[in-house]
Amino acid sequence: SPKVSREIWTEGAFAESFPVLPGSAHKGTRGKGLIVGGGRMMPGALMMAARASIRAGAGLTTAATVRDIIPYLTPSLPEAMFAGTGESSGVISSVDPEVLEGKDAVAVGVGMGREPESRPVIEMLLSRTSGPLLIDADGLYHLRFLLDDLKKRQEVTVLTPHFGEMAHLTGEEVSEVKRNPFSLSRSLAYEYGVYLVLKGPNTIITTPEGSQIIEPSGNEGLSKGGSGDVLTGVLLTMLMQHESPVKALANGCFLHGRTAELLISKNRTVLDLLPTDLTDGLSLTYRTFL
Ligand code: AMP
Ligand code: MG
Repeated sequence: SPKVSREIWTEGAFAESFPVLPGSAHKGTRGKGLIVGGGRMMPGALMMAARASIRAGAGLTTAATVRDIIPYLTPSLPEAMFAGTGESSGVISSVDPEVLEGKDAVAVGVGMGREPESRPVIEMLLSRTSGPLLIDADGLYHLRFLLDDLKKRQEVTVLTPHFGEMAHLTGEEVSEVKRNPFSLSRSLAYEYGVYLVLKGPNTIITTPEGSQIIEPSGNEGLSKGGSGDVLTGVLLTMLMQHESPVKALANGCFLHGRTAELLISKNRTVLDLLPTDLTDGLSLTYRTFL
């Protein structure tokens, strides 16, 4: 097997590799991202991911979801653009490939639901997304049935499972994922040629070649529905702004976890911390480096 490395991601590594925003920046150079998700039952997941992507620093963010809910999202996402999707009784069933034009990266899955009607959306994105494609949450559920399409894909693909989603993806028990997170991550990343972010108190980031980074920031205040959706938005932005996908992922996880730590050291506690606090707290982490 190939020789691979394992390192722990630090504040120093973040500060060194985080891209500088030049004075000449304009919205086109900071990344045009697309986030697909959030049907009628979980619009908040899409809202949190999109808002986090914008707050993290994306230039232009488009949220694609079922048309009915767009008017409800606009007040909390005034900076976003929207695209309506095809739908089948409230769930996303298709995305017009034209929506992909000009996008630098795409994230899919947050709040999407597990209805089989949504599966063709993941299939289309796997074959048609030319930049990085991040798949999270219910998107990972559908991916279990699209593993051949995943294998065929050549461009950068990122999967962000928690332990339960990792178990589902690999067909293992959760207890087995807990016993062998490093080797299972490596097998999955290698077999499908993907970047894997296995989320937990110590998040493990694995490259398709099998190199691994442990990102240990964060705290138990993150164990609340929505934390992962915020991470997806942050990672989407990082992927558009870094040359190196693995550094993008490590820096995004650091930004998310360190912000949770700083919020707890200021005015929140691990009990009342909200995922949306993370989005609005990103400046706490940014200000320690800028
Ligand atoms: P999800 O399960 O998709 O909502 O994602 C949860 C996010 O919160 C991931 O980024 C996890 O790494 C993080 N997280 C959840 N619980 C903890 C914990 N106890 N300590 C540190 N990070 C956590
Ligand atoms: Mg999640």
